[in-house]
Amino acid sequence: MAGISVKTGDGKTATLSAEALDGLRGALRGAVCLPGDAGYDEARTIWNAMIDRRPAAIVRAAGASDVMQTVKLAAQHGLLLAVRGGGHNIAGNAVCEGGLMLDLSPMKSVRVHVAARTARVEPGAKLADLDKETQAFGLATPVGINSTTGVAGLTLGGGFGWLSRKLGLTVDNLISADVVTAKGELLRASASENPDLFWAIRGGGGNFGVVTSFELKLHPVGPQVLAGLVVHPFSQAKEVLAAYRNAVAQAPDEMCCWVVMRKAPPLPFLPPEVHGTEVLVLAMCHAGDLASAEKAAAPLRAIGKPIADVVGPSPFAGWQQAFDPLLTPGERNYWKSHDFLKLDDGLMDVLIDAVRKVPTPHCEIFIGHLGGAVNRVAADATAYPHRNIEFVMNVHTRWSTPSEDEKCIAWARQLYEATSKFATGGVYVNFMPEDEAQRVKTGAYGPNYERLAKIKGKYDPSNLFRMNQNVPPAPR
Ligand SMILES: Cc1cc2nc3c(=O)[nH]c(=O)nc-3n(C[C@H](O)[C@H](O)[C@H](O)COP(=O)(O)OP(=O)(O)OC[C@H]3O[C@@H](n4cnc5c(N)ncnc54)[C@H](O)[C@@H]3O)c2cc1C
Repeated sequence: MAGISVKTGDGKTATLSAEALDGLRGALRGAVCLPGDAGYDEARTIWNAMIDRRPAAIVRAAGASDVMQTVKLAAQHGLLLAVRGGGHNIAGNAVCEGGLMLDLSPMKSVRVHVAARTARVEPGAKLADLDKETQAFGLATPVGINSTTGVAGLTLGGGFGWLSRKLGLTVDNLISADVVTAKGELLRASASENPDLFWAIRGGGGNFGVVTSFELKLHPVGPQVLAGLVVHPFSQAKEVLAAYRNAVAQAPDEMCCWVVMRKAPPLPFLPPEVHGTEVLVLAMCHAGDLASAEKAAAPLRAIGKPIADVVGPSPFAGWQQAFDPLLTPGERNYWKSHDFLKLDDGLMDVLIDAVRKVPTPHCEIFIGHLGGAVNRVAADATAYPHRNIEFVMNVHTRWSTPSEDEKCIAWARQLYEATSKFATGGVYVNFMPEDEAQRVKTGAYGPNYERLAKIKGKYDPSNLFRMNQNVPPAPR
């Protein structure tokens, strides 16, 4: 077999000889896929269909040794290297054009240590894999709200969802991680081993190495929790948002209630005449016992005159999948996000106006509910710095055909601009699209940026791990 041309990190081209490829194949437990090989298209296809890149070669890793071999080869030749966990990131950095892709999706084991209340999670595991294994023992750790998201990318950026107000971010529950650094060495990062690396990977994304195993703290949750949706007519949106603001200000940490504004999907519990019209949805989950949950949910459920209220006891692992049908892979997506300390009246007006102008029926605005335990951690305790915000807006712009790209992206950008004056200026790194490199320094990391750049300089001085929301290495 002939050698192949592979793009390098500095935009040039290197040749991987047939011998080098054979050597790699022989060293791996997993597979090397070239264009046309079985598995190649599956590995390069990610959640956001806007990203359609063709790596020169894909290593489908079976374990830490495969990761070490691949990183060493990439470093030796200065190759452009992309790392895929769950493949959900909106920016699409899991896959590169013409470079080498390291696909971790075959590594998906989750092992729960019940007595110690910990889980060992491989980087190809999805949230559903983690939830199913941990809930078998009535345990859980806070992760995101869409079960097909990868544990790896979510954790490395911070990670939050229904349990975070009670139990913190995913990174607040990270005990240790095995990290393959740019030298191809496997290091353990924890509070006592390589603590600088441990600090950096708790929010700093894939900048510092490839994580081959996450050790996460678990907590008793459910398995039944009180969760569900309250759907309001959009004509009442302003009143409902104002009442929501008051209700969540009093809510206990166990209660988490997000707002979703969009055109109603054809949900069986909604009257047919509501389908396709704008609605405001309060989506809630209580992480405690059912009696306390009913009490905590009451003020939120008493708001306005809803069209439907389907809040009730639900298996936690099932609730974790509640939004999956709206967030399926394969559509074109563009996101814009802001952090908020509070929900101003003026902000509500802008959001309501934007929902009335959605460019496609699949677009939606999510207002995530944070605070609680997340904000009881110091801003410099982990690389994730946004420890004072109460709400995060994520504008999910979603459509099917390239001909709609322009109008959809324009809608999201316009909404982002119009809501900027109400925002902190901070942004969750995991919600940033690929065209926001200018927001990494002050928006994503702010006061923690310089420290991150120094740690990057120590562990990855040549910026091998550059396919991410990149923190270039500070000179040493
Ligand atoms: C529909 C949807 C819903 C979401 N909901 C939430 C939510 O509720 N809460 C939340 O916090 N986030 C949420 N997110 C954002 C999510 O956290 C990010 O998209 C995250 O990056 C996804 O991780 P992944 O492993 O699937 O992604 P990937 O695209 O595979 O990876 C993301 C980045 O991390 C790097 N990376 C991946 N694995 C590793 C590894 N093992 N070692 C080093 N670097 C690695 C990649 O190179 C890439 O730069 C959501 C995303 C989607 C698409």
